[in-house]
Amino acid sequence: MSEKNNERRVYLDYSATTPVKEEVLQTMLPYFTESFGNPSSLYQVGQSSKSAIATARDQVASLIGAQPSEVFFTSSGTEADNWAFIGTAMWQRSKGKHVITTQIEHHALLHSGDYLKKEGFDVTYLRVDKDGFISLEELEKSIREDTTVISIMFANNEIGTIQPIAKIAEIAKKHGVIFHTDAVQALGNVHIDVKELGVDLLSISGHKIYGPKGIGALYIRKGLNLPSFLQGGGQESNKRPGTENLTGIVGFGKAAELAEKNLVKHIEEVRTLRDYFIEKVTGEIDDCHVNGSLESRLPGNANITFKYIEGEAILLLLDMKGISVSTGSACSSASLTPSHVLTAIGVPMEEIHGSIRFTIGDFTTKEDIDYTIDVLKETVSKLRSISSLDANTTWDVKMNK
Ligand SMILES: *Cc1c(COP(=O)(O)O)cnc(C)c1O
Repeated sequence: MSEKNNERRVYLDYSATTPVKEEVLQTMLPYFTESFGNPSSLYQVGQSSKSAIATARDQVASLIGAQPSEVFFTSSGTEADNWAFIGTAMWQRSKGKHVITTQIEHHALLHSGDYLKKEGFDVTYLRVDKDGFISLEELEKSIREDTTVISIMFANNEIGTIQPIAKIAEIAKKHGVIFHTDAVQALGNVHIDVKELGVDLLSISGHKIYGPKGIGALYIRKGLNLPSFLQGGGQESNKRPGTENLTGIVGFGKAAELAEKNLVKHIEEVRTLRDYFIEKVTGEIDDCHVNGSLESRLPGNANITFKYIEGEAILLLLDMKGISVSTGSACSSASLTPSHVLTAIGVPMEEIHGSIRFTIGDFTTKEDIDYTIDVLKETVSKLRSISSLDANTTWDVKMNK
């Protein structure tokens, strides 16, 4: 991204979060100071805040093909996921206490499922195949008389696999089950039209699309009367109480407008860099492979397993060279928590620990990628030369030493 004190900084973790774009920041700034009024107040400063929120709602709605009245701002993608999944299950519990999700959801959804389980719900976590896809037949077979809600993520944050959302929505509709999708990663990276897809509920977040952190939204299809999850005032048409995060909403709106305008170009550029990166890495480094579907995949995602070494060690060495990436596991002190996503697609334990997620975004350059490939080649060969792991050694042996 930039060079400071001779040290190159390369950010390759756009799926974790993105920087706020300058245009987004400039749009937000006046709402901290001059136009700070409470949108619920009747005087002018309040009214200008109210109209700024209306503009942002139009911008966000437009990006997903929704009516503005179907968009409800929340504090995060996490809150939208909780509201959609737990909120719907609770709301519908007199009809049944069975809900369906997948094994590869983001923790916001996965842990919402665990919560429902503790509350006496029956939760089905669908398996996925080696590329990260659910089986549509298995989904349909898992639907019961008492199933009230299905939640399946649009695109996976670790391996980038994009599910066939329209087909899933069709199955849910056929059985009269409410369908929610976590589209936090898909937003700004995939063309989304809630009407074409036929989804009932869809979660999104600002900070994954070059907007600010701490702002998200839930799309609620018109006619679906999902009750409010929190108790309080009448904000967001009585659906989501709490004084609006004015600057966050304004920033999210602007980021959504830019994402819509740049969508085709963004996908093309990011995918080109990603494909180049994957081709070089898998071509020039031995014993490594890509995880997740190569066909139906987020444009910026490259999740790669480097055999016989620890991802955490790669991550730390890359960090010393100014490169930020993330790993599929945290092998820190006593706890070993392998990625639930890589586990679900059947990556062996020792390989999960050698997996790195590189995610490319709008500010990534070809020079950043070339630099990363060079450092990676050097790092992998250095680690392999000192590693006691080889094709005949398992992770367990190494960890128990
Ligand atoms: C980041 C993310 C979330 C959580 O969104 P926050 O706004 O950070 O709470 C949920 N789901 C997916 C797939 C994500 O990538």
